[in-house]
Amino acid sequence: MPHVLVAGAGPVGLTTAVLLAEAGMTVEVFEAGEAISTQPRASTFHPPTLDLLHRIGIAEPLIAQGLKAPVYQHRDRERGLVANFDHAVLAGDTAFPYRLQAEQHKLCELLLGRLGDTVRFRHRVLAVSQDDDGVAVRVEGPGGPRTARGDYLIDAGGAPGAVREALGIAFEGFTYEDRYLVLLTTFPFEDHLEGLEKVNYISDPDEYVVLLRAPDAWRVLFPVREEIRDPEIWERMLQGVVASPVPYEVIHHQLYFIHQRVAERFREGGVLLIGDAAHINSPIGGMGMNNGIHDAFSLAGAMSRPDGTGDGPDGSGGGPKSSGGGPDGSGDGPDGPDGGGPDRDRALDIWARQRREVALEYVRIITDRNARALGEKDPGRRLLAQREMAAAAADPVRAREWLLDSSMLNAVRGQGLLPC
Ligand SMILES: Cc1cc2nc3c(=O)[nH]c(=O)nc-3n(C[C@H](O)[C@H](O)[C@H](O)COP(=O)(O)OP(=O)(O)OC[C@H]3O[C@@H](n4cnc5c(N)ncnc54)[C@H](O)[C@@H]3O)c2cc1C
Repeated sequence: MPHVLVAGAGPVGLTTAVLLAEAGMTVEVFEAGEAISTQPRASTFHPPTLDLLHRIGIAEPLIAQGLKAPVYQHRDRERGLVANFDHAVLAGDTAFPYRLQAEQHKLCELLLGRLGDTVRFRHRVLAVSQDDDGVAVRVEGPGGPRTARGDYLIDAGGAPGAVREALGIAFEGFTYEDRYLVLLTTFPFEDHLEGLEKVNYISDPDEYVVLLRAPDAWRVLFPVREEIRDPEIWERMLQGVVASPVPYEVIHHQLYFIHQRVAERFREGGVLLIGDAAHINSPIGGMGMNNGIHDAFSLAGAMSRPDGTGDGPDGSGGGPKSSGGGPDGSGDGPDGPDGGGPDRDRALDIWARQRREVALEYVRIITDRNARALGEKDPGRRLLAQREMAAAAADPVRAREWLLDSSMLNAVRGQGLLPC
């Protein structure tokens, strides 16, 4: 069994590490930070992600710490409610027909509990080189720099991409002009906006808003062109969502740059790029972390059962679906660095290509469309899109089709990670 090094203890690196450890591999995780990051980023877990996490016994404790959101809502700042999409129509498709609202660090803490001291905090991966024996990773830790050796390095170091850059892999795409200001507030929006759900996309040509209920607080996401640190401006922005005689209490604020970028390739020999290290997208629709977790399950399948047989920890009964011969990597390849043979080498090539396709052709397209629709300036186009949404939400057959995409079930099924 290979010895696998993982850069980054975010949700994706830790999911990968747990899956590989449960498949019998030895794993060492290097995390630059002192602890799991508690930055307010992902809060939405989609149904297929819960189906996958269920297989490793993580879904249930996560659900116990989160809030179930069976319905998500589209609103218009002027017109009010546009559409309610109810995941109940997915009852025959998933064991978890709802979005789970839970902070991403809660998933990380649960996974960390499985890994113990194989996760080394305050260890930053600086560089990587490869030879016939595998990968050599230069790591800066409290005791100074050292070199760790493994058969593979999984780069789950997020968007900064130290490993990706060291390998000269381009991160192709663009950065939106809008940045996102996320304000966490104790204000009870649910008492002021009738019928408000826990996940709400509120369109507006000038200033759209995303209102998300997480267990800790409401998260209010605004598009902004520059950093805003002035609490009086935050107050004005929040008063524009719901006028309150009592000033808003903002308990946290964070600014994010937003990108649509996908790495030129997800594999370079024994180095695999995964999660935000491989792809980043607009958070509208809540797909980035979910997609990274799907990368992890798919990669664990390719590494532990490269011939597509047997049951591993993810229970999917196989690695990535083979897609025929030729340059897709299905021909004979060299032995993997740990002697894993051509099967694993081939499976990893297929994994890299398939996951890149999902990032490019599914997540990038849907999240970009979501982000642009929310801020649509043309009144005619905005109205048409809203009518389309309302009609889809009102018809159970169309609502199911819509939700199969927005919940990422189609993406996961297309890869054979979950049965159709
Ligand atoms: C405002 C916002 C809201 C979002 N909401 C959602 C949502 O609801 N649902 C969703 O699916 N996604 C959402 N996302 C996206 C989601 O947060 C990311 O996709 C997710 O965090 C990616 O996980 P990751 O493990 O790949 O990377 P990260 O979470 O970035 O973790 C990478 C880890 O690697 C460490 N690291 C970095 N460099 C090194 C190095 N050189 N050596 C060692 N360690 C290193 C970092 O310290 C970090 O701990 C949102 C993003 C934003 C900005």
